Amino acid sequence: MGSVQSVAVWCVVCGVAVVCSGAVQGVEPAQVIDLTHSFHAGTIYWPTEKGFQFQQGDNGLNAKGYYYAANRFTTAEHGGTHLDAPRHFSADGQTADQIPVERLIGEAAVIDVTRQCAADATYLVSIEDLMGWEEAHGRQLRDVIVLLKTGWADRWNDRTAYLGTERMGPEAVAELRFPGLAPIAARWLARERGVKAVGIDTASIDHGPSTHFETHVTLCTANIPIFENVASLDRVPAEGAWVTALPMKIQGGSGGPLRIIATFPTP
Ligand SMILES: [Zn+2]
Repeated sequence: MGSVQSVAVWCVVCGVAVVCSGAVQGVEPAQVIDLTHSFHAGTIYWPTEKGFQFQQGDNGLNAKGYYYAANRFTTAEHGGTHLDAPRHFSADGQTADQIPVERLIGEAAVIDVTRQCAADATYLVSIEDLMGWEEAHGRQLRDVIVLLKTGWADRWNDRTAYLGTERMGPEAVAELRFPGLAPIAARWLARERGVKAVGIDTASIDHGPSTHFETHVTLCTANIPIFENVASLDRVPAEGAWVTALPMKIQGGSGGPLRIIATFPTP
């Protein structure tokens, strides 16, 4: 028992130490926000994909008298809150397992474009929007995880409002309507700045009407990972939060389910 207790204490201390060395710079306690939508049968996937398929096992009390549960799931790489590995749109880009884990953790820069997107459902986040964050915070977007807050996560429980169409299949793709990052702004981030990753609270980093996915191509060619269908950005400060984004480590994968959280000091 004594050794078990000492292990538990060590783990708690270790956990606090990890938080302190990350975002909150010794300020306690930290807020922890889950930026992940749950996976279930109704989770939003691209219209050409089957959704998340969950097969319940023979769960319950077994003949030996203890409870046991073990289910199965099947999923496309790209659905729900997920990673786009650079390989998604770049033939020699990093696959999900090749992305250095250091690239998936870092300081968040939350770009608030909710006002622009409320006025224009296919809004393209511009260089000016990104520079607005730089001017407000007196620093450049370097070595940060850029998170684009369009406000679209509020529509998550309404597939039609979120995607712009209720249809499924290839015909639905032309009807997609949601904001994204302008290709020219993606080029600017990749060439003029240098960010760890880019996330957005819509189904795609390219806006709904995109046909050639130039923002994906630009970011993936620069080996910049993308996070899509990110949740709860309205609860993350514009500056000073620490993001930890850990996708499933699929060998050779072009993406995968993502668990992403933000931590920051409690005011
Ligand atoms: Zn994707």
